[in-house]
Amino acid sequence: MQLKIAILPGDYIGPEVMDAALPVLEAALKRSGHSLAHSTHPVGGAGIDAAGKALPDATLKACQEADAILFGSVGGPKWEKLPPAEQPERAALLPLRKHFQLFANIRPGLLPKALLGASPIRPERIPEGIDLVCIRELTGGLYFGAKRTTTLEGGDVEAVDTMVYRKSEIERITDVAIATARARKKQLLSVDKANVLECSVLWRKTVTERVAATAPDLTLSHMYVDNAAMQLVRSPASFDVLLTENMFGDILSDEMSVVCGSLGMLSSASIGTGKNRHGFSFGLYEPAGGSAPDIAGKNLANPCAQILSAALMLRHSFGLHAEADAIDAAVRKTIADGLRTADIAFGAPSVGTREMAAAVLARL
Ligand code: NAD
Repeated sequence: MQLKIAILPGDYIGPEVMDAALPVLEAALKRSGHSLAHSTHPVGGAGIDAAGKALPDATLKACQEADAILFGSVGGPKWEKLPPAEQPERAALLPLRKHFQLFANIRPGLLPKALLGASPIRPERIPEGIDLVCIRELTGGLYFGAKRTTTLEGGDVEAVDTMVYRKSEIERITDVAIATARARKKQLLSVDKANVLECSVLWRKTVTERVAATAPDLTLSHMYVDNAAMQLVRSPASFDVLLTENMFGDILSDEMSVVCGSLGMLSSASIGTGKNRHGFSFGLYEPAGGSAPDIAGKNLANPCAQILSAALMLRHSFGLHAEADAIDAAVRKTIADGLRTADIAFGAPSVGTREMAAAVLARL
């Protein structure tokens, strides 16, 4: 298979971690006889500098012609004085999400056993580390429903946000969660508030029916969101694949990131409604963190989030699970062997971005 990837490194550490990740991706594909056809395009602040806008037309065109987008991160002090609507994040990522209808956000939470000290959770509560995935619906629910603020008679002010979900929206995100659970332990936990919200009643019914009809091989369970928030702190290692709606996922995935320690280890995927040339979901894959201007250009950034984002891309946009597993395993082995970038070294000796990526490549 030929994988046509639009590479959008972005700003500050974006190009550094992208340069470090690409040889790992190339090696994983070469081993199994697949080829990579990639082209690199400016986005974010780099897009503003090169073509006057955060998402240049040529960059969007390259994304449209690609099977998937591998994204670095955008933004930083250089462009902070621009009006909000022209800021790199808002003017690049949001239009990309909208254009490709990226409705599913997949965020793995990985805390390898060797990094237990990076988590605010006591090590004895997570003796084997943490390894879970949060699947968040990204284009529906409260954030996108009708909203208004009205001044009432007598001067009081009323604000209304509307939570709306359609069965079809719940089905398509459930399908992403099913595919994710199938590639892992075949366990799926759906999180809702079905004791209170109509949307959650439909959510629970639809997820239950979809799994029964299309994935009887999976074990499905349900949890209320308030309980899930507690359990993520109490026993994060008991989670595997967690599926939830937009606002609950926004909150729970951030809670999960903190529980898992360093931003430099966390990848993410946003899956679109469209299919690529190979019949898999088109998606945008990026580290969970930002452009880290404070450490840019110093060979200090942790490349693992970008490398793991490339593995997510292989899994979701190309169905290459063995290759993705190999990259994940190489990252874990690198950590287990004691290599650390500064963000996860906690004062102990550390290696640079390039050396860390070379160590992952060697183990792959
Ligand atoms: P940040 O995520 O860039 O940095 C927060 C902290 O985490 C910093 O101390 C940074 O050094 C560290 N960090 C992040 N990634 C790291 C890595 N790979 N290795 C080691 N350390 C890492 O957040 P911020 O400083 O609030 O934002 C900086 C810029 O990034 C802003 O312009 C913001 O808008 C932008 N941003 C972009 C994205 C995106 O492109 N998706 C996401 C978040 C923030």
